[in-house]
Amino acid sequence: MAALRVSRVLHATTAEGPGLRTAVWFQGCSIRCKGCINPHLFSELGGLELDPETVVREAVRQGVEGLTLLGGEPFDQAPAAGSLARLAQQAGLGVICFSGYLHEDLAGRPDADELLNCTDLLVDGPYRADEAEASRALVGSTNQRFIHLTSRYADFDPVHAANRLEMRIAADGSVEVAGFLQRDELQDLSARMGATRAWRRRSG
Ligand code: SF4
Repeated sequence: MAALRVSRVLHATTAEGPGLRTAVWFQGCSIRCKGCINPHLFSELGGLELDPETVVREAVRQGVEGLTLLGGEPFDQAPAAGSLARLAQQAGLGVICFSGYLHEDLAGRPDADELLNCTDLLVDGPYRADEAEASRALVGSTNQRFIHLTSRYADFDPVHAANRLEMRIAADGSVEVAGFLQRDELQDLSARMGATRAWRRRSG
């Protein structure tokens, strides 16, 4: 089974979709949207390698409802991400996947079959800085779509859901952040903290 190359994994977060979730940030994105707030995830060379079984085993141990796969670009690692999603569903977990690719393009890619087939909710489309989203949670631009591939998250309504920001401060002073901010909010918070950290704008 192919290994995942990820930037980080965060278990038991409530800031990355409905319910308690394990968020997996993939390292590497070939789409490279203009204005992406996560350019540190563009390179395929950073991050760390993890095997999908380890991620799912720990997610189950932490009692999460499901996984959220985001980027970076999960479909740039479709075989490994597909294994992760399959193992998650076999363990009874839901799978939400963000991608900068369009669903119709992914549906024509044989290598994307497993990941698509094992995704409950796909959020697709590239981030477009000139089409800023003002009313839906979890996405940065209005072109991005919530595509329910199963009924698992049929009740999730991004218009009435709230964006959440989660910060965890460890004993050593390191800060772990999850959630969604608009660019101006991010810049304001980063300035207050005195440092720019690994924030992200959702898309893929
Ligand atoms: S917004 Fe998403 S798809 Fe676009 S460059 Fe950034 S990580 Fe890649």
